Amino acid sequence: MSSNFLRQIVERDLADGTYASRRFAGTPGDAAHHAAGAPDPARIRTRFPPEPNGYLHIGHAKSITLNFGLAGEYGGVCHLRFDDTNPEKEEQEYVDSILDSVRWLGYGWHANGVDHLYYASNYFEFMYRAAEALIDAGLAYVDEQSAEEMRARRGDFVTPGTNSPYRTRTPAENLARFREMRAGGLPDGAAVLRAKLDMASPNINLRDPALYRIKHAEHHNTGNTWCIYPMYTYAHPIEDALEGITHSICTLEFEDQRPWYDWLLDTLCTLGLLAQPRPHQYEFARLNVTYVITSKRKLKALVDEKIVDGWDDPRMPTIAGLRRRGYTPESIRLMCERAGTSKAGGWTDYASLDAALREDLEAKAPRAMAVIDPVKLKLVNWADVFGSDAHREPCHAPAHPHRPELAAREFSLGPEVWIERDDFADVPPKGFFRLFPPSEASPGSKVRLKYGYVVECSGVEKDPSGAVTAVLARVVPDTKSGTPGADAVKVKGTITWLGVHDALPAELRLYDRLFTEPQPDAGGKDFKLSLNPNSKRVVRGYIERSLQEAQPDDKFQFERHGYFVADRHDHTAAQPVINRIASLKDSWGK
Ligand code: ATP
Ligand code: MG
Repeated sequence: MSSNFLRQIVERDLADGTYASRRFAGTPGDAAHHAAGAPDPARIRTRFPPEPNGYLHIGHAKSITLNFGLAGEYGGVCHLRFDDTNPEKEEQEYVDSILDSVRWLGYGWHANGVDHLYYASNYFEFMYRAAEALIDAGLAYVDEQSAEEMRARRGDFVTPGTNSPYRTRTPAENLARFREMRAGGLPDGAAVLRAKLDMASPNINLRDPALYRIKHAEHHNTGNTWCIYPMYTYAHPIEDALEGITHSICTLEFEDQRPWYDWLLDTLCTLGLLAQPRPHQYEFARLNVTYVITSKRKLKALVDEKIVDGWDDPRMPTIAGLRRRGYTPESIRLMCERAGTSKAGGWTDYASLDAALREDLEAKAPRAMAVIDPVKLKLVNWADVFGSDAHREPCHAPAHPHRPELAAREFSLGPEVWIERDDFADVPPKGFFRLFPPSEASPGSKVRLKYGYVVECSGVEKDPSGAVTAVLARVVPDTKSGTPGADAVKVKGTITWLGVHDALPAELRLYDRLFTEPQPDAGGKDFKLSLNPNSKRVVRGYIERSLQEAQPDDKFQFERHGYFVADRHDHTAAQPVINRIASLKDSWGK
């Protein structure tokens, strides 16, 4: 595993003993709570803090692997925290799917006998107490300017802000007014609580940031207990500190918030409310992956407008979608690790996810044959060679070339087999080594039916429109794979096939990228203008009998075709539904 700047920071802190004196009471809490606890058995604490307002996506996977990964590598613990301070837009459906996705990626939040699964809304009472303490200390005030007045006084990058007329209220006045806010006496938007910092600061985030706003809204966890809610930038540092987080890792857009993060926690530590040593914030560049979008709002639009078939549509970059498509946790983790962790943004090619998937499944996935675009091949001399059209020739093949412990696949050859339509050419292009009929220029081609016999193409049947309805061939006797005669006839081509009597009909869902543009929404572009019209193709094909027992989520490599998975929702033994995960080689990028 390569180093990165975050690993270096953690190693430095461990070497310096920055957090060695920390106590942890087993549950989140204030300074007094943790002071009564034991020395923290976790050497570091990180957290993954999703807002439960949508499904997790590939970008979140980066944050998950980073935070849980660092904790795992350095003897630490990673908390899963729902950042549910916003009463709107949050739903149980999202909470459930987030828990499921994190677990599926291979991570847990149970450590030292404790479930480190937290809800920021459980800290509302402390956040309120801290706000009163800031007011008491003369460090916060209730501002009753209108939104427009506030905006006008904030200034901009070149103009310093100017003080609110409410800024000189006494702590007692502020306290009384803040309590009225809490009691529900003021309508939405009538007042906010702001920190008293510096309206002239060059960092706009320090120009008296808002701490609380009024919102008469029901919260999924706290119900109607509150009608004032903390702002994210106030709540988040406090959540970290209550949980004893050491390294609070976030994406770069929060870099300008760091001075505020530091000010707030230092102040609350000084006031004796929060335990020391306190958390520190570190920023890294978010993961951007080509050919996908990762904004929850835009993903929701794809779902709501039925452009895709739900949050777990196999084309969606959500964890649920990637899972249903057949990507493995290992492949996603490998891709995230390879994408690296740095301060410099950039784009990770979607092809790197497919590459990681192939690496993972190459070693694991059983092999099988499938015919995706079937045309019938009739072996016209079958009865002559084998005595009767009812005869079946048993064939077998290894389940995996490097896993001899797996039972061999059994199937059989008969007088009619399904082959891929494009394994036949009426008029062969140059260098075509598969099936073509005899002509004045050449005899019919000879190919091997993989694991079976060599056959020689003898003709073709067509319908009145000229479309091929069947390919005709003769079996070359004594050429069966694995028998002494197998090498007697040399062929240049080998094709995959399935006996018509033996093949299982299956619905094959051939997925491809959802967008044709590598950066579908870059620079404010309308991502709906670059939807790939061929991102989902559903065909009826055939799969090998060895897959009769396949269970939903089982993955296999169809020889010559790529990696496939039995659909986790729709697949049944009676009606197989198989998704294509990725082809054997990258066919884009060229
Ligand atoms: P969106 O803007 O789509 O709503 P978000 O970042 O607001 O996404 P959160 O639920 O707040 O979504 O994210 C939880 C965590 O995942 C945060 O710490 C966030 O920084 C991180 N995260 C989100 N997207 C990415 C990404 N593309 N790369 C790395 N980390 C990400
Ligand atoms: Mg967010």
